[in-house]
Amino acid sequence: MSLVVIGSVAFDALETPFGKTDKIIGGAATYISLSASYSVKPVKLVAVVGDDFPQADILLLQEHGADTEGLQIKEGEKSFFWSGKYSNDLNSRETLVTELNVLADFDPVIPDSYQDCKYLMLGNLAPAVQRLVIQRLINRPRLIVMDTMNFWMDVALEDLIATIEMVDVLSINDEEARQLSGEHSLVKAAKKIMEMGPKFLIIKKGEHGALLFHKVKETLKIFYAPALPLEEVFDPTGAGDTFAGGFIGYLAATDDISFDNMKRAVIHGSAMASFCVEKFGTERLLNLQQEEIEAREKQFADLVEVIPATSAQPA
Ligand code: AMP
Repeated sequence: MSLVVIGSVAFDALETPFGKTDKIIGGAATYISLSASYSVKPVKLVAVVGDDFPQADILLLQEHGADTEGLQIKEGEKSFFWSGKYSNDLNSRETLVTELNVLADFDPVIPDSYQDCKYLMLGNLAPAVQRLVIQRLINRPRLIVMDTMNFWMDVALEDLIATIEMVDVLSINDEEARQLSGEHSLVKAAKKIMEMGPKFLIIKKGEHGALLFHKVKETLKIFYAPALPLEEVFDPTGAGDTFAGGFIGYLAATDDISFDNMKRAVIHGSAMASFCVEKFGTERLLNLQQEEIEAREKQFADLVEVIPATSAQPA
């Protein structure tokens, strides 16, 4: 059940209607590993930072279950920096700055102790680098999940398609699914994207939940998980990565990749993402209790519980 995670470990500067942050710890792999650590430990991290990245933040990752043997620290270089600003309703976000810095020529090194990888999470990163990680693992993992974003569709489409071809599950948001497929209908988009390689596709719809698609021969299976209506949403940054970390963490912990178990993993990932947005950055993910995670999963179940129409009694 060994889980390897690759992705950005970064400095983020965030602006939401509720406030602004200076540079704080962020990055796709950060959110993924924090979230997955509530299901499996260790989370074997493959990433790169510059020597400006605080030792305290590396320690924080370690204290939360990350194995950092695969985390490179580049002397004299700067860490990846991303800055984003959210609209008033938090539904859209503008990227203000993307400074690749150390990510520009990231050459991922897979420690020998990571070669037992059974579950591989390719977090947001240059698709050519994501592919290198697959190629550098001696045995193909049992399950490869990939997350990506429109940035890579704009600047590295060929690489992106070549990497998508190699994975089992692709996780993207609705806008990205439309951009990648050229289809407006998400069902048509899902069919086209699964023809590119992945047997499963997750389309994230922000505050409207997530869809899980799976195509077996001519049959298309679809599962829908809502997002929990929350009283307080402060900062959606990292929600997608937290979802992905929860999803793959759950699958790795249960070691079951059936469609039915993936449905449970989607609910678990959605529960983890619902915590993430309640505070700025990674803050809410640092001290969760198993009981509150379970209580939130139960809230998800209650949210969509229906009495089958056949047993409803007319008044
Ligand atoms: P999410 O809100 O789930 O889309 O993820 C936000 C995180 O993605 C932030 O912490 C950023 O550091 C990271 N991020 C943003 N753009 C990129 C990029 N082009 N490559 C890798 N990571 C990125």
